[in-house]
Amino acid sequence: MGKEEITLLARSGTDDPFKVTFTKDEDKLTITCTCPEGVHGEFCQHKFRVASNDIMVLQHPGQNSAMLSAHVWVIESPISDKLIKLLQLQGEEEQDEDAISKAEAEIGTAMREGTV
Ligand SMILES: [Zn+2]
Repeated sequence: MGKEEITLLARSGTDDPFKVTFTKDEDKLTITCTCPEGVHGEFCQHKFRVASNDIMVLQHPGQNSAMLSAHVWVIESPISDKLIKLLQLQGEEEQDEDAISKAEAEIGTAMREGTV
């Protein structure tokens, strides 16, 4: 099987998009981003939005199908449950900021270290 990689360009607010890279090595999926937070392996909106299949974050709409392929990897990984948890927390009427921060940190770790 070997190592597979998908890189997507996320809107940065400038002409220079951030690169969100998905690397699948056997069962292990890691996700990196070149933005100031992401580059240190922390949670960032780009990784989160690309992993959540949010097409609005893409710099180029033509990367739609590549994003879908990356999303399938995410669904097959343990990161998926963590993303769903964060989306649920964000959707609550009264936002629990502590719980949201904790969920974001967990996603950051899972994306950085990969989970088998
Ligand atoms: Zn980022």
